Amino acid sequence: MKHRVVVVGAGFAGLQLVQGLKGAGCDITLIDQRNHHLFQPLLYQVATTLLATSEIAWPIRRVMRSREDVTTLLATVTGVDRVAREVVLDSGTRIPFDTLVVATGARHAYFGNDHWEADAPGLKTLEDATTIRRRLLLAFERAELTDDEAEREAQLTFAVVGAGATGVELAGIIAELAHRILPREFRHIDTHRARVLLIEAGPRILPAFREDLADYATRALERRGVEVLTGVPVTDCTAEGIMLGDKPIPSRTIIWAAGVQASPASQWLDAEADRAGRVKVTDTLALPDDPAIFVLGDTANVESGGRQVPGIAPAAKQQGKYAARLIRSRLDGKAARAPFHYRHMGDLATIGQNAAIIDFGRFQMKGLLAWWVWGIAHIYFLIGGRSRLMVSISWLWSYLSGQNSARLITQKETLRR
Ligand SMILES: Cc1cc2nc3c(=O)[nH]c(=O)nc-3n(C[C@H](O)[C@H](O)[C@H](O)COP(=O)(O)OP(=O)(O)OC[C@H]3O[C@@H](n4cnc5c(N)ncnc54)[C@H](O)[C@@H]3O)c2cc1C
Repeated sequence: MKHRVVVVGAGFAGLQLVQGLKGAGCDITLIDQRNHHLFQPLLYQVATTLLATSEIAWPIRRVMRSREDVTTLLATVTGVDRVAREVVLDSGTRIPFDTLVVATGARHAYFGNDHWEADAPGLKTLEDATTIRRRLLLAFERAELTDDEAEREAQLTFAVVGAGATGVELAGIIAELAHRILPREFRHIDTHRARVLLIEAGPRILPAFREDLADYATRALERRGVEVLTGVPVTDCTAEGIMLGDKPIPSRTIIWAAGVQASPASQWLDAEADRAGRVKVTDTLALPDDPAIFVLGDTANVESGGRQVPGIAPAAKQQGKYAARLIRSRLDGKAARAPFHYRHMGDLATIGQNAAIIDFGRFQMKGLLAWWVWGIAHIYFLIGGRSRLMVSISWLWSYLSGQNSARLITQKETLRR
């Protein structure tokens, strides 16, 4: 019988691992709760009307169509029976494995305030992105309809919580939507009057970047009309608005971009986890007490060179690549491989049209040139020619016409009662 590898999660780590096992002669089962692989770094552009959902997601079954060795299953994993060596699906079905790879990613964390999610959704899935897009666009529509000045102001106040790269990118593009793209389309409201707040509890925005780049980003955001508030803890989020310390700010659209909580894999595996729920793995990315169970990407707490490996796409891909090579070596009966070593390629963030920051460690870039490099890098990492072409056309169209093409209000409200 062929060696059975079960991979849970077709994100960056899971897909890279499956790619790395091409021709290895194993029997691979790839399980994901969604039917698509999602390019999360551009999710904020779906949430803010620049891109359509199908431009940044690909059906997993299609991606795997030429891989006879891979069986794709659309199912949610709810547990792992380590004794029986089986993965348990929500339907009760059990999938046996010889080697298990868990790469189920992470979601946003509300630091014990999960009830905030309904009024302050985070951005992780396509559903999250279309929910946020719907709320953003509806806020302008409702502001146009109301005669109540206070209500109009609350509708036109957009609060983004958390000033990491995602928060900065969201705030920048929402400000552009309000101040550059929408003004000519409304008759009763002046969308220039919209307030976009970027709220950060820490002392500065973009803590992963050098201070001079974060300062540049702050200035670029402020030039676009974003109010950057640092050192301000959020104490409540409701349908009425947001509470900063004891100061209420009426806002009908709050977006949560703070905190990360890993998938519950540590519970399935009965494994030790850190405070964010990430499973602590060895330097070969496996469980300390089970070398045939790997945990990768955002679900794993991995150290390399004495530092925690960051929860970003290149790190997840490198882990997938490493684990695939290790599994191949074992199958070939070769000597153990060297420990996982993470190579940091750099940090990138865009602030809006013509402005981005890039920190490659040895050198830094900011402004227009950085924005072009950011764009080319993201196009390069998309899957397939069609997506690259479609995203390039959408960006070019938006750049030349000043219009975003994915401004549809679809689906019903799913989070609020
Ligand atoms: C909005 C946003 C912006 C980002 N921007 C950047 C960026 O600019 N640059 C960068 O490098 N990184 C960025 N990241 C981080 C990057 O996307 C993650 O680090 C990366 O996706 C981690 O890959 P992964 O394979 O560990 O998990 P994921 O890519 O999240 O994949 C996990 C997969 O597991 C599946 N899954 C989860 N639970 C189950 C279950 N119970 N059963 C079955 N399947 C399950 C999910 O459906 C998903 O397909 C961003 C993330 C977000 C959310």
